[in-house]
Amino acid sequence: MGSVPPFSSTDESVSNRVRIAHEVPGPDPEYAPRAPTDTLLYSVLYQELEPFLQRANERGQPAPRFVEQTLRAYLRCGVLAHGFLRLHCDACKLDRLVPFSCKRRGVCPSCQGRTMADTAAHLVDRVLPHVPIRQWVLTLPYPLRYRCAYDAQLTSDVLRTFVRALFAGIRRRARRDLPPQASRPNPCGAVSFLQRFGSALNLNLHFHTLALDGAYLYQPSPRATPTFVTAPPPTAEDVARVLAGTARRLKRLLIARAENSEGRQDALERDEPLLALLTQASLRTRIATGPEAGHKWKRLGDRVEPAAQVPGSQTRSADAHKAIARYGEMSLHADVAVPANDRKRLERLCRYAARPALAHDRLAAHPDGSLTLRLKSRWRDGTTHIVMQPRDLIDRIVPLIPPPRAHQVRYHGILAPAASLRDAVVPASVQPDSEGTTTQLLSDTEPAEPAPAATHDAMKPRRTRWAALLQRVFAVDALACPRCGATLRLLAAIEDPAVARAILGCLALPARAPPPATGQPTASQPDPDPDPPFEFDQRTDYEET
Ligand SMILES: [Zn+2]
Ligand SMILES: [Zn+2]
Repeated sequence: MGSVPPFSSTDESVSNRVRIAHEVPGPDPEYAPRAPTDTLLYSVLYQELEPFLQRANERGQPAPRFVEQTLRAYLRCGVLAHGFLRLHCDACKLDRLVPFSCKRRGVCPSCQGRTMADTAAHLVDRVLPHVPIRQWVLTLPYPLRYRCAYDAQLTSDVLRTFVRALFAGIRRRARRDLPPQASRPNPCGAVSFLQRFGSALNLNLHFHTLALDGAYLYQPSPRATPTFVTAPPPTAEDVARVLAGTARRLKRLLIARAENSEGRQDALERDEPLLALLTQASLRTRIATGPEAGHKWKRLGDRVEPAAQVPGSQTRSADAHKAIARYGEMSLHADVAVPANDRKRLERLCRYAARPALAHDRLAAHPDGSLTLRLKSRWRDGTTHIVMQPRDLIDRIVPLIPPPRAHQVRYHGILAPAASLRDAVVPASVQPDSEGTTTQLLSDTEPAEPAPAATHDAMKPRRTRWAALLQRVFAVDALACPRCGATLRLLAAIEDPAVARAILGCLALPARAPPPATGQPTASQPDPDPDPPFEFDQRTDYEET
């Protein structure tokens, strides 16, 4: 801490220079003011968190640690009074305070929005080859959605089962236009996103798999670049065959698991009764707790006849030509494809697949105290909004928080981290930037290649501390001076809320944090399961660059 230049209320040169991000007209429109405590989501969760936890305790169904920590972390996210980095621009003398971000999954629209953008950029720049890519969306039967919700191993097994059937189908299609004597295209590749939610904030675990729409030919020489054979577009029959193959393999998988766990009760209900209760209610779109428990979620909208039942309906005939298959409660959609070099559209598709459960503008308050959630698109029965009481909101959000350490992005086949041909097909690698700041930003994804931090320079302790500190904010644009664009220098990290408040007070900046009351982890009581993990040393001399 000795390196922090002293702040005092009389030091005008300092306080005049200090600006928080939204006071500085930045050249980047993405530098929108961020006032996390002004949102409806924040104020509802702030009001409702303690009563929620208390009611759960009274029912003998305490909230799991990761759930409570995620909700509390969201209430601290982006709030200067809970700590910040002090960054300085040597070129134009701007001082900038950047609050810490929670970087949690499941609740925080801001952090998930950043993760979405970072993940999409990473995939387009470094992972997905310049070949046609098709999105496959697999929805699971209800019992499996429930069982997979907190069982990461089962989820991985189910996903692997699907990808195996998918790759078999892609190879079949890729061979279709080749002469019979041609060598058979084999290696396939894909990236999957695990999405937990539907647009009504209901638990709906499903997969968005972006698969290379074809397969590679094995090369005569290992050094040659593999040739990609683009598959013709899938027919409805092709999609149905992939789904039927998935269902067949899933049945075998589930039978095998049932044999291994003979007579075992619902483990979730036994171990985490609160999660079991909220998850079941969410799956059935029923109110979980309170006076209206068991009732269906209230909906708004002009009820219309489901399109498929309207005689002569356009929708139905259009559906017949679409690459959509259904099998019991499962469905598989394969209509969206991106041509080889449309990287902009590919990035949009990646962002769509990695998007957060909730955007602030979909939630609104009504004078009677209820909340409405606008659906992204109208349901077939005409529903446009879901109505809930503020106390219901946490019940709806909790099942959407993924269990700790379950990766939400997976790589398959030739794109898997250890695949031997991977380096030959991914886009030409990008040099790590000089500050090493892109390191490990993608906390949600499996490591797909050695992180830039593994370079010799980045292994130096000073670099590692930099990287660890910067992990706690979204460093990519925090590091650019919003006034002149030069790279900002890290002067200090203020982690102790008391110190943070004192400094903010001196600078006449809002120092009062919404204090998420009791038992909240503080700097002295570190979060035992941070996500992503970080460690850093307060004694570090940050002045060095
Ligand atoms: Zn956050
Ligand atoms: Zn500057």
